[in-house]
Amino acid sequence: MTYLILSDIHANLEALETVLATAGPYEHALVLGDLVGYGANPNEVVHRLRALPSVTFIRGNHDKAATRLASVEHFNHLARFAIQWTTEQLTPENLQWLTELPAGPLAIDDLVEICHGAPFDEDAYIFDDLDVRRAMAAASRPLCLFGHTHVPAAFRLADTLLPVGPLRDRFQLPLEATARYLVNCGAVGQPRDGDPRAAFAHLDTAERTLTINRVAYDVATAQAKIIAAGLPEVLAHRLAIGR
Ligand code: ZN
Repeated sequence: MTYLILSDIHANLEALETVLATAGPYEHALVLGDLVGYGANPNEVVHRLRALPSVTFIRGNHDKAATRLASVEHFNHLARFAIQWTTEQLTPENLQWLTELPAGPLAIDDLVEICHGAPFDEDAYIFDDLDVRRAMAAASRPLCLFGHTHVPAAFRLADTLLPVGPLRDRFQLPLEATARYLVNCGAVGQPRDGDPRAAFAHLDTAERTLTINRVAYDVATAQAKIIAAGLPEVLAHRLAIGR
């Protein structure tokens, strides 16, 4: 099976369209949550993703907040403003659809499971070694894919636990049969690793390879829409620097 991996799209239609146009063939898409929040096109992004021919979704913390399944009390003021704007923009149908997105972790097949934050808590951030070890222990499959931090990262556990990378440009990770992996394939719509290009990945379970890709998109148009919508300008500026 070949999968296209998309995470943290954040209502950035320009990034999503460019990723879909350049992704090439795949059999099934996996969307790891945060479809909305921050960007100016929540309805268009939901519509585009729902129309993919074969796709599995889980929810992210911004999807939960936009649909009021979760409070925004832990969000900073920028995220909170954007979520309130997003909730007002979403059509009743899209709000209902987002409300029904399943929580992660979700096992996809014998090789891979997906989660938004971590396999032990959908809202947890995986940042340090302790988080990685806890996530590896909680993962139910040899390959656990996560999002939420918007930073590509890969860890391999065999005899010892080692970070893999650096994950710059196109990065191919061969998946050894005897190792376990925890991988963040980066964010489509709001990268935070200093590289403004959209990130996405392909997984080929027959060849056992995971390939993280980056693609430049029309940042200027995404920025102009954010400013025209009356969203905080810093949400536009950060797209250009990938922070
Ligand atoms: Zn996110």
